[in-house]
Amino acid sequence: MKTKLGLLYGGKSAEHKVSMQTAMAVLKALDLNKFDIYPIYISEEGTWINGPQLTAPAETIKELEYKPESGQVSMDTALTLRDSGDHQGFDVIFPLLHGPNGEDGTVQGMLELMNLPYVGNGVLASSAGMDKVIMKNIFAQAGLPQVAYVWFIRSGWEKDREASYEKVESEIGYPCFVKPANLGSSVGISKCTSREELEAAFVEAFQFDRKIIVEQGVNAREIELGVLGNDEPQCSVAGEIVPKTEFYDYKAKYEDGDTAMVIPAELDEETYNSLKEQAITAFKSLDCSGLVRADFFLTEEGDIYINEVNTMPGFTPFSMFPLLWKHTGVEYPELIEKLVQYGVERYEEKQ
Ligand code: ATP
Ligand code: MG
Ligand code: MG
Ligand code: MG
Repeated sequence: MKTKLGLLYGGKSAEHKVSMQTAMAVLKALDLNKFDIYPIYISEEGTWINGPQLTAPAETIKELEYKPESGQVSMDTALTLRDSGDHQGFDVIFPLLHGPNGEDGTVQGMLELMNLPYVGNGVLASSAGMDKVIMKNIFAQAGLPQVAYVWFIRSGWEKDREASYEKVESEIGYPCFVKPANLGSSVGISKCTSREELEAAFVEAFQFDRKIIVEQGVNAREIELGVLGNDEPQCSVAGEIVPKTEFYDYKAKYEDGDTAMVIPAELDEETYNSLKEQAITAFKSLDCSGLVRADFFLTEEGDIYINEVNTMPGFTPFSMFPLLWKHTGVEYPELIEKLVQYGVERYEEKQ
């Protein structure tokens, strides 16, 4: 029996294009002898459309951008297996969505309500992982070392901006990083070295979210690890990001492409083991399932600080997470199959 897999991609998010590229790559890697593949496309406007079963990988992204037919514009309809009219028709849904409205637990919640098995993190881990303040509070509770941070709500800042800046200067100091609490891809993030830059950074970050976080800036190497599994998660080798810009900003991630990835990262065994342990602790502390990419800072003195986890990390064959697993001995097609299996297992455990 083949697995009926609904591939959910696109999305009403700044990361729509990234998701389309991921969908192309995943389609190419899925074995059609093992899977019946049903595309579910979310347009940039947020319309959900299911396409016909795919009998070959798509040649172009355009092919995967379906137009709505009549009666095909509700999420509920799009998640119904064509020709069967049954939600249970799908064996598993694979969401390839990044950022708000996809990586943040909202889509996961809908799939739960529809009683559909799905790949990746559940509602709680997805939403807690999307909010950097909540995530850091949970990491602190788990005893993971982090840089100092404070956070602000837009209305509080608007009432007394001076008090907000003074709080940053007395508790964090410069340099600091200002970030929207709920986002990814470095969107809305600024590095500040003065009051003037801090004021501009608050304005910028509050354009993307009603909540922001300000962190102490560290001068450190950036090391990332992949975690895979459910109750007994495994860790990949470590990779290092070497940005050629001031920090790993949006431009470096998606436009310049001259950021180097070193896999495996050059680390002594003790440091790698410590990173591995912390990555697993982070995974468990948020009650993750399926996968996360855990991002760390490593200072010259050897101090490790966890920066964040990403519950749906970049997932093209050239992204860090799949490359980390390739170097660990798990090729892209096998990685996809493992993730499907973990998703189905978690669903069955809950029944
Ligand atoms: P993504 O989800 O794409 O990994 P993000 O939007 O969640 O990114 P972060 O990973 O928190 O953002 O930060 C983006 C980059 O900014 C980091 O990779 C790093 O280069 C730099 N950076 C963030 N916080 C700090 C910090 N406290 N000290 C030094 N550099 C930082
Ligand atoms: Mg992130
Ligand atoms: Mg992200
Ligand atoms: Mg990051």
